[in-house]
Amino acid sequence: MTETSPRRLKGRSYAETRSAVLDLIRASESISRVELSQLSSLTEVTISKIVKELLLEGIVIEAGHGQSTGGKRPRLLKLNTGVLYAVGVSLGVSRIVVVLCGLNGKLIERVDLAGVGDDPPPQVLARVAAAVQKIIEVRGIWRESVVGMGVASGGRRRGPLGWGADPEAAQNWEQFDTAAELEGLCGVPVLIENDANSVALGTFWAGGANATSNFMTVYMDQGIGAGLVIGGAIFRGASDNAGEIGHIVVEPDGFECWCGSRGCLETVGPPRGLVKQVATDPGLRALFDEPESGDQAIYERILDGLGKGMPQAEALISRSVRRVAAVLLGLANTLDLDRIQLAGPGFAAAGPRYAKELKRLVEKASFTRGVHPIAVELGGTGPDVAALGAASVVLHSSLTPHHLSVQI
Ligand SMILES: [Zn+2]
Repeated sequence: MTETSPRRLKGRSYAETRSAVLDLIRASESISRVELSQLSSLTEVTISKIVKELLLEGIVIEAGHGQSTGGKRPRLLKLNTGVLYAVGVSLGVSRIVVVLCGLNGKLIERVDLAGVGDDPPPQVLARVAAAVQKIIEVRGIWRESVVGMGVASGGRRRGPLGWGADPEAAQNWEQFDTAAELEGLCGVPVLIENDANSVALGTFWAGGANATSNFMTVYMDQGIGAGLVIGGAIFRGASDNAGEIGHIVVEPDGFECWCGSRGCLETVGPPRGLVKQVATDPGLRALFDEPESGDQAIYERILDGLGKGMPQAEALISRSVRRVAAVLLGLANTLDLDRIQLAGPGFAAAGPRYAKELKRLVEKASFTRGVHPIAVELGGTGPDVAALGAASVVLHSSLTPHHLSVQI
């Protein structure tokens, strides 16, 4: 049973109601019809009708009996995770991850590929399509049972045809129709979503967040961004570019940022910012850079220095931790959030330090302290988290498209 509070569903269309009921089943390990009725405020007759339909379609199965509350022991329902699948792809400059998930959003199979780099989009997407084909063959599943493919990517969204990136990476993707190309290659519907939103939706899909939550998932890989779920729905802004917290100015006289501003969080917070600081300081370069070093190698040397107590590494990380935490406190105050999740590979090594500082700040200084708590959680920091989130985007879109909680 989930701790979801009752949702008022009366007056909604049948499709919306069905989506919401399926969402309650998904968010529970297993649940009875009576519990569904209590949680949704729908009559048991309506619940029975919807459940019958979901059972016939094979999306839901019966899973034993629950505890009796006086009468017959109720039959429990759960998602039929073995019949439908979703593919998730995380398209990163230095690494691509392809995953196959069941209906519950849990990982079944994964493949790592070389990153996008400077390769032309058709070449990269052909690699992705070949990996998807291999996964489908290895697992012996029907292509028809794959409901779709979600693709998570960072960067700026400029138009309906694709995603822009910062000037250093993959400019040639901006005018490329990634979704159409992958649909043609793989024969399944494709949805593109930014990486932070993907992780936020993945958290929601996996049952980790209440639909009524006002929460933020901060995703840090090489850069940093946020997926904002406000009143249970992803907040997208005027052009689908909401959540770019990396371009909040934290040091007005600081480093120039590629966006045209100066002192953005992006320049001092995420790994990309730390690497830039090393590049612009001869003293730091001597410590952390070596000829032919890639950005990842420089960042790993900083983390290595941190482990060895090197003061310069400590200063870089501690500045990042304080700036990131201060921005997140500001957002918690602005949006009256009740939950902040830190996720992504950029939080893998020093994540506990970020979480600790943010917890300290919200307890000491959040505007709503004493009114409600703000949960701070360190979520998935592995390389799979954005790809799993992207698969969840597809599951959400195809199974609960009318649900009011998170609309895509
Ligand atoms: Zn900027």
